[in-house]
Order: sequence, then C-alpha cells, then structure tokens
Amino acid sequence: MATAVKHEASCIFCKIIKGEIPSFKLIETTHSYSFLDIQPTSKGHLLVIPKYHGAKLHNLPDEYLHDILPIVKKLTIASGLAIDGSEGIGYNILQNNGRIAHQEVDHVHFHLIPKRDEKTGLIVGWPSENADMSELSEYAKELVSKLN
Ligand code: 5GP
Ligand code: ZN
Repeated sequence: MATAVKHEASCIFCKIIKGEIPSFKLIETTHSYSFLDIQPTSKGHLLVIPKYHGAKLHNLPDEYLHDILPIVKKLTIASGLAIDGSEGIGYNILQNNGRIAHQEVDHVHFHLIPKRDEKTGLIVGWPSENADMSELSEYAKELVSKLN
C-alpha cells in the first residue's frame, strides 16, 4: 500500500519538510524529518516531525509513529545524552497537543531537550495529590473497557 503523504500549504513545518523555508536538517527518512529548534531552551534542543500534516498525535497514521521514536533514540545518542544512571546530564522528550497543552505549531513534533542544569531546558511544575485508590480502580476499568 502506498504511504499517505499529506501536506498543509500554510504549515511552517510542512514548508520546512518541502525545503520552502530553511532548517538545520539532522536526519530525514521516508516518514520523518529532524532539525534544530530555532529557539532552543538548551544547547542541542531539536525537533523530530512526521512527514505528514497531523496537528495532534492521534491524527497520525501508525506508520509515522513507528518511524519516529527510533530516530529520537538515534539523535539522543548522537547528542551525547545516552548516559546511564540517574545522575548527570539528562534529557526530556516533549510532545504537546493543543494550545492549552503548550502546542504552538499545529504539526506533530517531538522535542528532544537536553537537561544539563536547573536554569536551561525543560522546567516542569505540575499539580498533584495522592489518588483515591477506588477512583483509580474504577477509572482503570473504564479505560480498559474502551480499549478493545
Ligand atoms: P510547541 O510549543 O508547539 O511544542 O513547540 C514549537 C517549537 O517549534 C518551538 O520550540 C519553536 O522554537 C519551534 N519553531 C517554531 N517555528 C520554527 C521554525 O521556523 N524553525 C525551527 N527550526 N523551529 C521552529
Ligand atoms: Zn504541517
């Protein structure tokens, strides 16, 4: 079956894929394209995108998703971030969906963000509280019932 390829003329990332606007390209495959982020939050901040215009993750055909994570892994290694153990340099893989979830470009993208210190890279702060176990159990059942 032929691979579906879908571009949106006004999309900045589709334009980058097509070479209509420049980028610092890192890797390109049939399904994916990777380049340096133009406003890095830490040195080496890069993006991996599918060569398919889907705004959110659920809009992508699985074949594009299958291609992306191995590329993220390859770039993590090339970036010198493949360090075992919990201490030292780390990294975050970030993928935002929707304006309220901090997505600015409506073409799916995975950020690879090196985390070397407290001041640069991803800074996370989310509210949390201890869960009610019976509510968790009910929710897990509900979700599982919808997965089949
Ligand atoms: P979001 O907030 O949507 O998850 O992140 C969008 C990312 O795309 C931002 O980190 C931003 O710096 C990056 N970006 C936006 N426009 C361009 C561009 O034209 N070229 C490059 N290389 N990165 C871009
Ligand atoms: Zn696009």
